[in-house]
Amino acid sequence: MRTTAVSGPHVEALLKILELERSKGYEDVAVVGGLDRYLRVYLKKAKDSGESSRASRICSPDFSYAALTREQRRQWAEKTRQHLTGSPSAKESPVKKQSAKPSPVRQLPPSPGISLDSPITAVKGIGPSSASRFAKLGVRTIRDMLYFFPHRHMDYGNQRCISELEVGGEQTLVATVWEARQVNLGGRPGTEAIVGDETGNVRAVWFNQPYLAKRFRTNARLVLFGKVGVYKGKKVFESPEWEFLESDDLSHADMLVPVYPLTEGLYPRTVRGLVKAIVSGWAPRLMDHLPEDVTSRCALMGLSQAIQQAHFPDSPESQDEARRRLAFDELFLIQVGVAARKLEWQETEASARFRIDDALLRRFDDSLPFRFTTAQERVLKEILSDVSQTRPMSRLLQGDVGSGKTVVAAAALMMAAANGCQGALMAPTEILAEQHFNTISGLLSRLGPPEEESGLLRSFPSLPPYPFVMALLTGSLKAGEKRKIQKAAIEGGVHLIIGTHALIQKGVEFQKLGLVVVDEQHRFGVLQRSALRQKGVNPHVLVMTATPIPRTLALTLYGDLDLSVIDEMPPGRVAIETKWLEPGQRQAAYNFVRRKIGEGRQAFVVCPLIEESESIEAKAAVVEYKRLSEEVFPDLRLGLLHGRMSSAEKEAAMRSFKDRQLDILVSTPVVEVGIDVPNAVVMLIEGADRFGLSQLHQFRGRVGRGEHKSYCLLLSESPSFEVRERLRIIERTRDGFLLAEEDLRLRGPGEFFGTQQSGLPDLRMARLSDVALLELARSEAIRLLDGDRGLKRPEHRLLAKEVARVWRAGGEAG
Ligand code: ADP
Ligand code: MG
Repeated sequence: MRTTAVSGPHVEALLKILELERSKGYEDVAVVGGLDRYLRVYLKKAKDSGESSRASRICSPDFSYAALTREQRRQWAEKTRQHLTGSPSAKESPVKKQSAKPSPVRQLPPSPGISLDSPITAVKGIGPSSASRFAKLGVRTIRDMLYFFPHRHMDYGNQRCISELEVGGEQTLVATVWEARQVNLGGRPGTEAIVGDETGNVRAVWFNQPYLAKRFRTNARLVLFGKVGVYKGKKVFESPEWEFLESDDLSHADMLVPVYPLTEGLYPRTVRGLVKAIVSGWAPRLMDHLPEDVTSRCALMGLSQAIQQAHFPDSPESQDEARRRLAFDELFLIQVGVAARKLEWQETEASARFRIDDALLRRFDDSLPFRFTTAQERVLKEILSDVSQTRPMSRLLQGDVGSGKTVVAAAALMMAAANGCQGALMAPTEILAEQHFNTISGLLSRLGPPEEESGLLRSFPSLPPYPFVMALLTGSLKAGEKRKIQKAAIEGGVHLIIGTHALIQKGVEFQKLGLVVVDEQHRFGVLQRSALRQKGVNPHVLVMTATPIPRTLALTLYGDLDLSVIDEMPPGRVAIETKWLEPGQRQAAYNFVRRKIGEGRQAFVVCPLIEESESIEAKAAVVEYKRLSEEVFPDLRLGLLHGRMSSAEKEAAMRSFKDRQLDILVSTPVVEVGIDVPNAVVMLIEGADRFGLSQLHQFRGRVGRGEHKSYCLLLSESPSFEVRERLRIIERTRDGFLLAEEDLRLRGPGEFFGTQQSGLPDLRMARLSDVALLELARSEAIRLLDGDRGLKRPEHRLLAKEVARVWRAGGEAG
């Protein structure tokens, strides 16, 4: 019964899917969303594109693949294949028992002289200019490229016609550009395109990418992938991923096509091609660092295959398997490092055990202008109990912005001095260090007036060890002053030194360092903490953070630290009013800012998060700063703050804002870490939808620090349903921990922690909400170290190397 074949791109694609189904044992897993949905689209396309009527005669309108038994599916698939190709299958294999077996990894001979650590220029086709572009994305070596994961996959299997687009989910659309133009999207230049197919037209918009308008010529064929929202009652693709369609795309055998982060000068196709070349050449050569018993006990995919499937998955299932394996790796390597550190720490002796001077504590307590909250009291008790042990304290103190961590730290630091020890308090910036110096010196003054010794040395005659001397040591001090403080530190003439990281990096020696407090931990690497610990013999260490981390995660990620939480706010805080505004209300927001400045107040403007790179983000902030100062607030004093400025420039900008020489500080998200400007009462956040709730909450914590009522205004250009939901939550909720939990629930922890979690190895694959995998990694790490403390056994050699590599990289980032 030989007949001729039916051909055409849609038929090709369907044949590939049928083949995939066959190889997976007819489990209806070849296409995301199931074959039935795919068939509906296929039928319409085949018909519309005129691929002979026989192409569409493969099933009746009420056919349901999902409803068939496996054997019936096999028969139908075979019949369909014959119908389309005109020939019976060469050899029909029986239904496989095992489903979703990803394709095997080819073994390749190694190239002489090139290793995983070779620069990518060692690969054919990558020259210095692409290499420098990749470097911007953090990809320098072949290994980096293997671990340069796509941020998503375009799902060709979930292709829709325009009439079938649904609001909400991610969908792929192939369409023709009718018109593309630069438009103003709520006050900012962006691109709008009208695209169409046989079933209709739809609008697509890209925020902040006006240059796309020129690239989208009329009649160009585009592949769009992303979420569909609604604007003014009409469907709209919101900042979808896009590519020009090339002739062979529709017959993509890979239903899941990776989409990589890009940077200027790198285009999707180039990147995909280069990654493909490197992955197929090098992934097979990776040696798996996980001990075999771990891999098999935890049912993990092998490393080579996982890398390959993470980039170019054969199916959503094998993609998941790959993700699980790679996520396990990340968590496991962290856990091994953390557990090793904890073991080490448990064996050391503290430089000093403090005797708790209750009378002094009571004096301090009585002197305060307020009463400790119950939470502060509890936490202080936990800390004091730690420091009175022989084992050095290693504690993480979490407390929402404004919960009153500083005063707790001050009490502990005072106790160190009363025990004849020195204390150090480190902040991430000079301004914060200065702020702490003034706050703590203010608190201590209430116990008895200070004597200004000189400049930044202050002494309290009535406080033990009579007198108590504190100093501020920052990079910008004059050399003479610096030397004087350093000398006092070595000789024991100063009891509390407050400074930046420079305290531990620039060779400051202490006579007897008993307690170290680190503020704003998330800018502070784990390795920096341990470097510090090596300074004193073994000081007690208290790390403070305002980033609320749900308890399970904190325990796991900061497994080397004990945890204290201030979960209560001091009474009588004026609530910050939070409001999200419709795109059309931007002018009203500006008017509000202007009014507050008229009243003598100040405002922050935070620019949207741009994930591609800090330099693009900085550029965008510069543009926004220019626009605001030239067009919107030409008569006001504006300042700019971004991550590409030197730390001196950053300090200068923050200082002029603090000193009221500026009315508005325009900033990238770097402003998150706590400067205290009590006179700032408006926090205006652009692109609020791009931030996590926790991060929005941190920004919000920058205002409301003085006596004036404060406001947090959220602007979002694409208030889709989900965005509205999220922004409503932050409008209503003031509790940082609740917001963190919501964040985890809504966005998953990859975004929650981001890569800014310095000092910890990058988490690219791990989702911290996956508590089960976290616990598994943790227990495997402990089990491993139980059996082989120093990872000395030969079968752990690769693993030991990997742990060292990952932690080294983490430390550099911190
Ligand atoms: P954070 O935890 O963000 O570091 P701070 O220590 O800066 O918070 O405290 C924020 C403000 O709250 C400070 O002005 C501090 O004096 C004040 N404060 C701290 N504890 C209390 C309390 N128990 N009652 C009232 N005000 C307090
Ligand atoms: Mg603070």
